[in-house]
Amino acid sequence: MDDCPAGVTTGDALRWAARNLALADVASPRLDAELLLGHALGASRTDLQLRWTECLTPEAAHALTALIRRRAAREPLAYITGRRPFYDLDLYVAPGVLVPRPETEGLVEEVLAWAQKWRAAGRRPLRIADVGTGSGAIAVTLARHLPEATVAATDLSPAALAVAAENVARHGLGDRMRLVRADLLAGVGGPLDVIAANPPYVPSARLADLQPEIREHEPREALDGGADGLDVIRRLLPQAAERLAAPGLLVVEIDETHGEAVRRLARQAFPHADIAIRQDLAGLDRLLRVSLDNRSESE
Ligand code: GLN
Repeated sequence: MDDCPAGVTTGDALRWAARNLALADVASPRLDAELLLGHALGASRTDLQLRWTECLTPEAAHALTALIRRRAAREPLAYITGRRPFYDLDLYVAPGVLVPRPETEGLVEEVLAWAQKWRAAGRRPLRIADVGTGSGAIAVTLARHLPEATVAATDLSPAALAVAAENVARHGLGDRMRLVRADLLAGVGGPLDVIAANPPYVPSARLADLQPEIREHEPREALDGGADGLDVIRRLLPQAAERLAAPGLLVVEIDETHGEAVRRLARQAFPHADIAIRQDLAGLDRLLRVSLDNRSESE
């Protein structure tokens, strides 16, 4: 216990960090303190336990103080560490992109389940588009799991495209992925077999109620869906209908209050498709799923 008779141990630092984050009302102060201390020391959470009674160097103490100050100001953890786990990948994340959310993993699963049948039927490589890609979470995860697919990912934000490009490079997907600076599907031709999107869908008036991490740090253009939250999906659906091949799949993440409204909008754009609203793990409406079979419209 006396590796560090006069100074601050790893354990002391962790308690100090967690207390400061708790005082700042951070939702998971202990976990975030561990992750930030691990980041400062280049150590995993398990390593921290092994180094519990070690003395913190002045450099590490200085680095930790700066990290805790940022998190106590309610900056998202992922912006501070520069990474976020998503599905089975470790993604690069930076200010200017929405931090990938667990709900969005459900969208990826929906596409992969559909794509599995596609592959089992021995069809040609998939042509996929991810609209408003942000960090590239959806597009990169799909490209990683579907080794023959080509994936176009659009975003209007140059900052987002820079983050997405880093994720494409880190996962070695440059030969099958194309990043396009465009509004929705404007820069992408058809036909497409899969269209995926996590558009901004929060009704403008609800933005003020979001937690400070989101409200004060995440890009408004990735969240704000206009007065009723449906502005972007309203524009996206007709563009998707023009480009989706048959068979084809469209999946769009939605707000939990939008299930019925989105089902109606989808029916207008795709009069003959199979349309479903799917729930997330919390049981809330979270996805629009539109599938065309090979006799549906567009042909
Ligand atoms: N689910 C996100 C949130 O509430 C919103 C994401 C979005 O608008 N696409 O923070």
